[in-house]
Amino acid sequence: MTSGTFTLGRFFGIPVRLHVSWMLVLVLVTTSLAGGYFPEHYPHWSPLAHWTLGLAASLLFFASVLLHELAHSVVARARGLPVHDIILFIFGGVSQIAEEPESPGTELLMAIVGPLSSIALSIVLGILWLLTHRLSQPLGGLFLYLGGVNLSLGLFNLLPGFPLDGGRVLRALLWWQSKNMEWATRWASRVGQVIAYGFILLGVWRALTGSLASGLWIAFIGWFLDSAAQSSYRQTAVRMLLAGHTVAQVMTRGCEGIPPDTTLQEVVDRYILSSGRRCLPVTDGGRLLGLVTVHNVQRFPAAEWSVRTAREAMVPREALRSIAPGRPLTAALQEMAQDGVNQLPVLEGEQMVGLLTRENITTFLQLKAGAR
Ligand SMILES: [Zn+2]
Repeated sequence: MTSGTFTLGRFFGIPVRLHVSWMLVLVLVTTSLAGGYFPEHYPHWSPLAHWTLGLAASLLFFASVLLHELAHSVVARARGLPVHDIILFIFGGVSQIAEEPESPGTELLMAIVGPLSSIALSIVLGILWLLTHRLSQPLGGLFLYLGGVNLSLGLFNLLPGFPLDGGRVLRALLWWQSKNMEWATRWASRVGQVIAYGFILLGVWRALTGSLASGLWIAFIGWFLDSAAQSSYRQTAVRMLLAGHTVAQVMTRGCEGIPPDTTLQEVVDRYILSSGRRCLPVTDGGRLLGLVTVHNVQRFPAAEWSVRTAREAMVPREALRSIAPGRPLTAALQEMAQDGVNQLPVLEGEQMVGLLTRENITTFLQLKAGAR
């Protein structure tokens, strides 16, 4: 989900990104607060006050989501799990933690700190409301609203369906009891789907009984939870099958490089058409210069193929992601997902020792899944 995001900054060394969908939320929350919630509860305030408070409240709402995610990320990092970044998007935030926790205890702690910090913040905001609402009604109103938001954020995330925090807690408990992470993940995901269907039914019922907008929104959250439960389960299953294996074990070896001055015509005839290879490293004495794909060749009109060379068409080494043969396969998969590429050259120093493709990984997964 790195596409469509831009970096906001670093907090505790963790990059925080905003997804474009979050802009929509900012507008929606601000308008619904300034046009609905605040005028309803505080009708004698001026429209300017409604809008100022509306904007302040939605920005602070966003800060609350960020605090929740930072709690997860900071604990994850303290337990030795690499945190890639935090992305804030339409449904809240995601901490992108690159590895699965190694023990149920770590999982439990990592999951529970998010909702706990939201609930703790709601208590602090409640106290601030008590202290300020007689002195300043707008300030009191802001604290009261944010306190409610943080309480709901904490409680919603405690629902015991994977991949919500509560579902992770459930998984940790099942895992601890059964010593079987896959089984625990499967059941926590099923509970997640049941909760998702509950949301969809509730949303449809509300939509049919008059509250169309809120009904649709609830059903939409249900749909999102259902797809999240399914994809998180698949992701975990894949990671578990890949765990403990390295790039060197599945990469294509002896991937013949093509010399940089090969013409594109030759590239098409000798390599792409005859061997069906879709991705060709351009090498000079084993040193990788770049990578040519079918797509790169197609950028040139066929009439020029006999005069253009592989060097002209290739994506140069500096612009390529690569991976070392000893790296874990899970890391390779993540690199590919981040850049949306289908292959990674495998480099030992500057020497190309192989090519890792998505197909290599899929075949490996099929073999492993079949072998059990
Ligand atoms: Zn959370």
